[in-house]
Order: sequence, then structure tokens, then C-alpha cells
Amino acid sequence: MPAELTAAAGAPAGARLIDGTALAARIRGEVAAEVATLRARGVVPGLTVVLVGDDPASAVYVGAKEKASREAGMAGETIRLPAATSQDELLALVHRLNADRAVHGILVQMPLPRHIDPEAVIHAIRPDKDVDGFHPVNAGKVLIGEKDGFAPCTPAGVQRMLVEYGVETRGAECVIVGRSNIVGKPMAALLMQSGAGADATVTVCHSRTRELAAHVRRADILIAAIGRPCMITGDMVKPGAVVIDVGVNRIPDASRKSGTRLVGDVDFDAVRQVASLITPVPGGVGPMTIAMLLANTARAARQLEPA
Ligand code: NDP
Repeated sequence: MPAELTAAAGAPAGARLIDGTALAARIRGEVAAEVATLRARGVVPGLTVVLVGDDPASAVYVGAKEKASREAGMAGETIRLPAATSQDELLALVHRLNADRAVHGILVQMPLPRHIDPEAVIHAIRPDKDVDGFHPVNAGKVLIGEKDGFAPCTPAGVQRMLVEYGVETRGAECVIVGRSNIVGKPMAALLMQSGAGADATVTVCHSRTRELAAHVRRADILIAAIGRPCMITGDMVKPGAVVIDVGVNRIPDASRKSGTRLVGDVDFDAVRQVASLITPVPGGVGPMTIAMLLANTARAARQLEPA
């Protein structure tokens, strides 16, 4: 196991921490090396992010993506459009980017203003430039295990974490709480494939699941992608389980200057006493998402411009 992936200093007995920040930094370094190789043969991987409107959280995410792509040596560009942009105008931009040979990856930041149909926009992006992995062609490729498709970055990042930390997925009982198209469903598709980092027995739970705790308690690997602060409590987790917390929730905290803090979907302090390995929030899954976006973009450039 690489040196930066050892347990965080000072962690009390109980679960070892998965350091998503360190792992993401290593992956970003690997992508930068791949970009340098591509540049040496005249290919500069280009990632274009489109932001419609002025949602503050989206603006932060988009800024982080542009900065990370530039740091990896890519041509990172953000196109900012006013909230009043029509669906036709946005689709026309996507078509222009589809045809632009300097653009290898296209990402339209969600959520879009209410008058724009996100599905129409996602469907318009060329699947071979869809580095977010949301196009139905990529969803299908992930489901049938075709490796040239793009998996959505968050579940791809979770799978990479499991592999890098030597978690045995083969035959493992893996319980995913959440069935969204961007996390839960593709996560299930990735882990149920045959092969390395997969071969798991997957259960997907959601808001209509009966006896949620009973399902969760069976998990060797638990992945929480719910969007409910601290919903997974210590008594729901099997001793020794690996716990991946995808959730990002802002809750009030009078002790902080900002008056809020971020927590996951897992009650971290309680669950870390029971689990063997756990991701913190922040610093777990989040940084992996951007790292996988860069990895997808470098691969898109390679696939679009073979040597
Ligand atoms: P969605 O809201 O799209 O999906 C949430 C899922 O949780 C749904 O399937 C829902 O069930 C299920 N759910 C909600 N309440 C319950 C409950 N009480 N019991 C069981 N299941 C429940 O969220 P996302 O998948 O987009 O995101 C999930 C979390 O992950 C959020 O906190 C989000 O911020 C975070 N996230 C983090 C990322 C990162 O990079 N770290 C990236 C993407 C998301 P149903 O389908 O029945 O409604």
C-alpha cells in the first residue's frame, strides 16, 4: 500500500481512515504525466465546463474543475452563460463543442435553471466527450461492462478507492443506500461487473426499502449516497465493515465562525468505532470526484486522438 494511504495520524482505535485527498492528489499526478505524454505528440486534452446561471455552489464546483484541469496541464475552459439562456441556445453551444476538435471533454454543470430540460442537454453531448458519464450510451456501457465508456466520476472514484486500499470486493456483500443516476445506480453497475474491484453481491436500498437497517447491517462494504446528515448510525453497521460516505450535507454549527459545517450521511464518530475502514467528510469521496473527471478527460483525448 502506498505510504500516503496509511491510517491518519492520531485516529483513535477503530476504523482506519481512507484519505481521499492524498489519493486524489496521486491520481491527479498520474493524469498530469499522461497529459504530458499526449502533449508531446501535439494533443492538448481540452475540458470545457459550461455553467448556466449564478448558483454559488455550482460556481465553486466549476472553478475547482477548471483549476484542477489546468494544473494537470489540460486546456481547461469555463463558459459562463446567464440564467436566462434558452434551451436552444445551450443546445447550440453543446453542438459547437461536440464539433470542436480542441475539446475532448464536455461537462454541463447541474442543476440547470428550471426552464431547461437536463435530459435534453445530457442527450445532446457526444457520448465520446461525455466525461461526466451521464449520457445514456455511457450509462449502458457501464451497465454491460464496456470499458471504453465513461462511468460517472463519483462512483468511479469510490471504486478506485476500494481498489487502492486493497478492499476485497470479490464475493463481498455490498450495500448501496441511494439509487440516483449519478451515484447509486452506476455504483451498483460498477460493483456487480466481473473483474478486479468488482465481483460484489450488490444490494441497492432507497426510500421505499423496508427494514433498511437490516440490509445495511449485512454489508461488508457500505456505500451511503442519501443526502441525509448522519443517517447511518453505529448500530446499523456490521463490525469490521468498510464504510464509504458519499453524502455532503451542510448543518448548523454554532461553534464555527461560518455557523455551519459539512457532514456526511454517516454518523462518523459512532461508525468509526465499529467499521474497519471509513471515509471522512470532507476529505473522502469529494476530492476523488474531480480526480476521476480529469482521468476521464485524459482518456477521452486518448480515445479521440489515437497515436
Ligand atoms: P439524490 O437525492 O439524487 O438521491 C438520494 C437517494 O437516497 C435516493 O435514491 C433516495 O431514495 C435515497 N434516500 C433518501 N432518503 C432515504 C431514506 N430515508 N432511506 C433510504 N434511502 C433514502 O442524491 P445524490 O445521489 O445526487 O447524492 C447523494 C448524496 O451524495 C448527497 O448528499 C450529495 O450531496 C452527495 N454527493 C456527493 C458527491 C461528491 O463528490 N462527494 C457527488 C454527488 C453527490 P428515492 O430514490 O426513493 O427517493
